Amino acid sequence: CGIVGILGSAPVAPLIVDALKRLEYRGYDSAGVATIENGHLDRRRAEGKLRNLEQCLQNAPLAGTIGIGHTRWATHGVPNETNAHPHFSGDVAVVHNGIIENFVELRDELAADGYEFQTQTDTEVVAHLVARELKKGQPPEQAAFAALKRLKGAFALAIMFGRDDDLIIGARNGPPLAVGYGEGEMFLGSDAIALAPFTDAITYLEDGDWVVLRRSGAHIYNMEGEPVERPRQQSSATA
Ligand code: GLU
Repeated sequence: CGIVGILGSAPVAPLIVDALKRLEYRGYDSAGVATIENGHLDRRRAEGKLRNLEQCLQNAPLAGTIGIGHTRWATHGVPNETNAHPHFSGDVAVVHNGIIENFVELRDELAADGYEFQTQTDTEVVAHLVARELKKGQPPEQAAFAALKRLKGAFALAIMFGRDDDLIIGARNGPPLAVGYGEGEMFLGSDAIALAPFTDAITYLEDGDWVVLRRSGAHIYNMEGEPVERPRQQSSATA
């Protein structure tokens, strides 16, 4: 039920877990974090409280200065480690809040195309949809946009690509999602409270927006693929 993404300059996994703790008030049943190291996605996930995820990370730390994290409130699929986000398909990692209403139709279509489903979640279709677009030769931004256009329902999403350690794509249609601006660092989070330790410069996405985040900044687009301007606010959330 909470999303955090960080394009940072130091190992981000502990920072992501700290930011997820600030979203605990929303409730959750499991949690996970994924990072990229040497062009390779890796993740740790755990059922239950964030201290379980922290324990996992203590036993097997995740390096990497880019990552996405999630606290899950299960809607489709039991709360266990397998169904905990981030979900992977090849080079693609996804975290999601909300419900993909047309996931059965998409799952059947992707399964017929040879995609094997590892989880019972509605979310996994998003990872495979993006991966399929990549496989067609689309660049990551276009692959994500093409996938987003197929989704019906309520979602906040963060998408990361193993091949590019300077890229996170976010999207909002329902649940809130905010971009945070740092100095050579960029952030994504469900709200300004999660991002308060890092920055107070915040832009809230509107429904139908998607954002391309790199350490150099953010570019926001609508569902027609046109660039849109959203106000940058100074958040009063305290760190
Ligand atoms: N529908 C997704 C799931 O069940 C996301 C739930 C959430 O918002 O955390 O995995």
